[in-house]
Amino acid sequence: MGLFEGMEGLGLSGLNEMNVIDKPHTADINKENAAALLERKEEDYIFDKKYQCPVCDLGFTSKCVKTGKLKKQKNDTDLRPIYDFMDPLKYDVVSCEYCGYSSLARYYGRLSNHQIMELKNKVGKGFKGLEDKEGAYSYDDAILRHKLALICSVVKKAKNGERAYTALKTAWVIRGKRLSNDENAPENKALYNDEMECLKNAYDGFMLAISSEPFPIAGMDENTLKYIMADIARKLKKYEESARLIGSVITSKSTNKRLKDEALNLKELIKQDIANSR
Ligand SMILES: [Zn+2]
Repeated sequence: MGLFEGMEGLGLSGLNEMNVIDKPHTADINKENAAALLERKEEDYIFDKKYQCPVCDLGFTSKCVKTGKLKKQKNDTDLRPIYDFMDPLKYDVVSCEYCGYSSLARYYGRLSNHQIMELKNKVGKGFKGLEDKEGAYSYDDAILRHKLALICSVVKKAKNGERAYTALKTAWVIRGKRLSNDENAPENKALYNDEMECLKNAYDGFMLAISSEPFPIAGMDENTLKYIMADIARKLKKYEESARLIGSVITSKSTNKRLKDEALNLKELIKQDIANSR
């Protein structure tokens, strides 16, 4: 799999064959505001938070976003939030710079002794360390940390819901980078392919999770998760599954009005995509 190519430089090897999800046994930076954005500094919106690594026991700091200071503009169709000035999604992963243990902040630190051993042996051993970054993360810094979190979720045999959500968030930062690039940037195609690979893993993992894990999954209720899965399925051109999922969101009595409106919009998009694919 190409997603983890280049991670060898960190001292992690043998990852090419790594699958994020085990098989079961059977838009855009707003260009108009670009000038205004330059006056505000991303650094002013982040701070260093102290952590104690449960794997290597060393203390480190990880960058966090000052919540409440940013205004959300809109969501992508798969609910990736877009903010008016910076992309706070870049900071959703906590990474130990010494041993590489990483996870989305919501899952950080809840480890069994066995998981700690596995992370020590398969990630920490030989890990060359992460650069302690001054200032804001670039998209590459963020993508690297998200990929580390994805690797750690597999190594510690996290539930499919966690693996899938980590893959989804990785897809979102990769998309963030692609959309912040010049439209014709040569790397955009590779970024798009990586995003699709992450979305496929997210879809497969969520599909397993909804049949085996209690809701909320990754903090999402059933309708929200099925809505996101319907849009991922659309992007993956799995139109039948996409239509089935969005149908169940629309007809569910527990879907709130806002999500139902989004779901009706998505249903139209699915119809258009199906028509265009013929
Ligand atoms: Zn550590």
